[in-house]
Amino acid sequence: MQAIFWGVRGSYPTPGPETVRYGGNTACVEIRSVDGDRIVIDAGTGLARLGEALAAGNQAGGQFDLLLSHLHWDHVQGLPYFAPCHNQAARVAIHALRPDVVKLRDIVRGVARHAFFPVALDDMAAQFDFHEVHPGRRFRAAAFAVRPFRLNHPFGAVGYRIDGGSASCAYVCDTAPFDLLLHKKHFLKGPEPLSPADRRQLQALRASLLQAVEGCDTVIYDTHYTQDEYARFPHYGHSTPDHALDLVAGQGIARLVLFHHAPNHSDTMMDEIDAQYRRKGEALGIEVVTAREGLALPVGVRARSSAHRVRAGL
Ligand SMILES: [Zn+2]
Ligand SMILES: [Zn+2]
Repeated sequence: MQAIFWGVRGSYPTPGPETVRYGGNTACVEIRSVDGDRIVIDAGTGLARLGEALAAGNQAGGQFDLLLSHLHWDHVQGLPYFAPCHNQAARVAIHALRPDVVKLRDIVRGVARHAFFPVALDDMAAQFDFHEVHPGRRFRAAAFAVRPFRLNHPFGAVGYRIDGGSASCAYVCDTAPFDLLLHKKHFLKGPEPLSPADRRQLQALRASLLQAVEGCDTVIYDTHYTQDEYARFPHYGHSTPDHALDLVAGQGIARLVLFHHAPNHSDTMMDEIDAQYRRKGEALGIEVVTAREGLALPVGVRARSSAHRVRAGL
């Protein structure tokens, strides 16, 4: 299995000279099996790059499973620009957490409504299927077994554990930690007092996350903030590398990937974060890797022992 990073940024795209090395496109990770089966997690602007690569390789037809963590802009904005959406030989299956009030199909259609984009989803050449994801209910996508689990994020998000062959990988994005506040279906202006029921729910969320990622070779985690930034914005629904390391330590996890970098983090700053948390990870026996656009990471014990990093290509 390989995890290929087409977009690693959180919030909004950040092209420019200060982000050329880590990349400016928003969240999109392709999981590819040794046999060439693929699923795609999140449809940030990195998805457009994947689409270009597929079209260039004459591979923009066929079945594509897109697993969305949630529907915030930085996780869906690449969808209308994904080449297979405009290929009549393509079938695009969108899997996402069912929103409470409006049906998933209508919300996803909204990403390409005419006020925002010239081609409505219904006018695109591909055939679209929509699948509601229910935390805790496993399903299969392409050649992979998928286990979704609920995260702590404003209006809800899900993480995914992906198993394929003997390799396993988890995608945990976007999520706040599980101690200070509980995100619900309204925007928090800051930390609000937790009721006993809130605390129990946070414990349950943390426990289900730990259960899902246990023994995973690689965990890709929302590490948007530094500790200082998190102290200022604890209610925005994101974590830090310290939170991520805390969670994965002792769970039999070999590798943690720092992901969903804050848009104001320059390459220089990311280098510092990378060096600092590689050292912290070493002390805990966990390999820490900082995601960068174009990184193709072998996942699985044998792949890791012969670790090599290559630029993404088809
Ligand atoms: Zn995000
Ligand atoms: Zn979000």
